[in-house]
Amino acid sequence: MKTKTCPSCGSIKPVYHYYFRIGVNGNKLYFNPCKKCYNLRRMQWYKDNRDAVLIYQRKYIKDNPDKNNANFKKWLAKEGNLAKQRERNRACAKKRYARLKAEKELNGK
Ligand SMILES: [Zn+2]
Repeated sequence: MKTKTCPSCGSIKPVYHYYFRIGVNGNKLYFNPCKKCYNLRRMQWYKDNRDAVLIYQRKYIKDNPDKNNANFKKWLAKEGNLAKQRERNRACAKKRYARLKAEKELNGK
């Protein structure tokens, strides 16, 4: 089996531990860091750039509502996602209810 050394963690791993893209002549070009290091790097990048990513996502949704709706419908049709979405809606409603209740108590008495 083909192996490759990850420059980030320094371990020698089989090539299926690496992401790849298909090159112009159809061969697999493996990424340099292994999947584990790559994902860690991506997660760190997201943490560092979270605000910018959220702003970009909101702008994209605003600019492409039809595309976003279609993607959401496609996602919802996948198995298990309907239950996931219901759970999210429930959690969101609970949060909203708690917030409204707190606001009422602040303004009411
Ligand atoms: Zn690695």
